[in-house]
Amino acid sequence: MLTCDTYHIPTSLPEALEMLNRYANNDVRILAGATDTLPWARQGRAGDVTGDHNVENIVDVSRVPELNGYEVKAGRVRMGSNLVFQNFLEDDTLSLHLPNMRYCAIWFADDQIRRQATLAGNLANASPAADGTPPMVALNGEVELASLAGKEIIRRQVPVTEFITGPGKTTLADNELITAVNCDSARGYGGSFEKVGQRRSLVISVACATCCVKVSGDGRRFEEIRLALGGIGPVPIRLDDAENLLRGSDVTYAAISRAAKLAPNRVASRSRRDYREDVIQGFAERAIINALADCGHNIKEKTEELAHV
Ligand SMILES: Cc1cc2nc3c(=O)[nH]c(=O)nc-3n(C[C@H](O)[C@H](O)[C@H](O)COP(=O)(O)OP(=O)(O)OC[C@H]3O[C@@H](n4cnc5c(N)ncnc54)[C@H](O)[C@@H]3O)c2cc1C
Repeated sequence: MLTCDTYHIPTSLPEALEMLNRYANNDVRILAGATDTLPWARQGRAGDVTGDHNVENIVDVSRVPELNGYEVKAGRVRMGSNLVFQNFLEDDTLSLHLPNMRYCAIWFADDQIRRQATLAGNLANASPAADGTPPMVALNGEVELASLAGKEIIRRQVPVTEFITGPGKTTLADNELITAVNCDSARGYGGSFEKVGQRRSLVISVACATCCVKVSGDGRRFEEIRLALGGIGPVPIRLDDAENLLRGSDVTYAAISRAAKLAPNRVASRSRRDYREDVIQGFAERAIINALADCGHNIKEKTEELAHV
């Protein structure tokens, strides 16, 4: 179980940041939904529940109002760090702007966990198998970090691709808090999220793929495409080579298949490498096809160049 000497519940951002400054040199842990922290404290996800872990100071940020809500502005979505995965299923505006996150949330855990689990916590945990990271990489996601210098709040933006540096590793400083996650709005795109694991729900990904796609007005060409993979290496990756191949090309099964063939080259995992290489091509292909279907371009049953004639 998780025990601590002091459980702090700040009710404003300056108060939370001041606590981090005060305890930065001691044992301090930020807590949001606790869905990673509790299994961690139990020394093994859903495994050994007998171990104890004591932390000197826990700073529970779930009651900090500045971290709530979201805003869509100038083509970007700013999500407060307390936003939970269930919001991507229940909030129509978020679904409209982040069509891949709707599908990501469907695959993510169950109702109970989704109502607790924050996107920010998912990024901070930096698991190679995390479901929230590839969609943010696909949408040029950035984490907004804040710290306190004297009485002034200092903020910096770090791209998700630079924030996560390896399994369980980020560039978050001891006295910093994630205050928001920002990403491109994909309004007008079709979205998808595909995940392979041992079973459908409550499963941590072996690998996952996400796509957002926009097709030209006449439905013949890929106008814009975002494609990212997770679980195939220490950090999530953007499939920019496949994107470049498809951008501007005809919407055909042949083009999709050619682009998806580039995906296995990017597998960097050492464990179950052959398996990952085998599944990832079909997976990237399915992510593109399903994102197209999501915006009304169903080419699943059609073949080759006949797709959109
Ligand atoms: C049964 C179960 C099923 C799960 N299924 C999935 C799944 O399908 N897919 C998946 O990707 N994950 C899954 N998870 C993992 C987990 O739910 C996610 O990683 C979750 O998003 C973490 O968010 P949280 O708010 O609970 O984080 P917490 O557990 O509170 O914190 C996680 C980490 O983030 C840090 N942190 C949290 N908030 C901040 C902040 N604002 N600033 C700085 N650091 C912060 C904490 O210090 C800690 O290091 C599952 C977990 C469980 C228990």
